[in-house]
Amino acid sequence: MKTLIISILTGIFLFGTNSNNGLMEIEGILYSDMGNVTIKSVDGNISEISRIETQGKSEELFVAPGLIDVQINGYMGVDFSGPGLTIEGIRKATKALWKVGVTTYFPTIITSDIDRIKENFAVLAAAKNDPEIGKSIAGFHLEGPYISPVKGFRGAHLEKYIKLPDWKEFQEIQKAANNGIKLITLAPELEGAISFIQKCVATGVVVSLGHHNGSAKDIQQAVDAGAKMATHLGNGCANEINRHHNPLWPQLSDDRITPSIIADGFHLTKEEVRSFYKVKGADKTILVSDALDLAGLPVGEYTRGERILLLTENVVKLPKENVLAGAASPISKCVGVIMDYTQCGLRAAIQMASTNPAELFSLKEIGKIEPGKRADIIQFAMVNGEMVIHKTFVAGELVYSKQ
Ligand SMILES: [Zn+2]
Repeated sequence: MKTLIISILTGIFLFGTNSNNGLMEIEGILYSDMGNVTIKSVDGNISEISRIETQGKSEELFVAPGLIDVQINGYMGVDFSGPGLTIEGIRKATKALWKVGVTTYFPTIITSDIDRIKENFAVLAAAKNDPEIGKSIAGFHLEGPYISPVKGFRGAHLEKYIKLPDWKEFQEIQKAANNGIKLITLAPELEGAISFIQKCVATGVVVSLGHHNGSAKDIQQAVDAGAKMATHLGNGCANEINRHHNPLWPQLSDDRITPSIIADGFHLTKEEVRSFYKVKGADKTILVSDALDLAGLPVGEYTRGERILLLTENVVKLPKENVLAGAASPISKCVGVIMDYTQCGLRAAIQMASTNPAELFSLKEIGKIEPGKRADIIQFAMVNGEMVIHKTFVAGELVYSKQ
């Protein structure tokens, strides 16, 4: 608490921020129209946005809604799918994410032993109710185990735990998660997938197609059944595919599908990102980090569960399968990369990293800077095309301040 008060006081004198008695005030260049504004919040919600004169500050600081990452496997050494997951670990990961501008995220559990999946979701469900970090956890993402077992398409998921969709089993997992699973990634070509998708959608779970080799017909049936996303489009796919008949074209051509993409500069080529963006546009694209817990650690070889992973400067690889296992950068990196690759503006990049996921998951209180929205706000500079976070607020409370 003492450090919080000190940092708030520092904020008043050095950075033009004020925050006390449930009131908060912050200045910056509004990401959506580049005008200078003061944003005020009362009791955690934005109360007022007023235009101000430019004050000739030495560094341009922008303000935007906090970033929302719906696919993140862990952070700072804390693996959401790993053994011995604790609330303390999740607290550590959440605080580290605040430093990189993420105010809301979906901890993602990948294909594992079903008992482990349940155990970890139970811990995550407790974290979601935690008074300190719970506001930053809006739901969970289950990636697998109902995905393609085929090499390449399964990516770094362990084949022995991959299985056919099982509604009863999923309900048990959802129960362990206290109904917190809001997103599931699965393969539409699996036996029973279509009726499974219908059931998920009926219970409010968003279905995303990923790690699959679905035909055009499989994909159409899945979308007709209510699937509306494609998970990390262009990844979770074999290196060699048929040029006419592959999962990419149907997912690109169907306007009902919003893809998530890992625009970290390494998972997709510049041309892929540009092409996906030209087809789907800023309204129908979501940025995700797909970061592994190794993000932020020194490069080298790490054992994670039953997998040996290689962390390089930029990505995490699974050498045994010659595939990427995940990313080593937070979503804030992807904001800078997509602006560079597509020449889109900050407004569009933030839309893809905050507004769109908020809308797709009906998180009505976040994802925009408007009166009445929760004051989840980031203040940042763009330095050599990269976001540098200066301050992060969650529900009007300063949770990170640079320096
Ligand atoms: Zn994946």
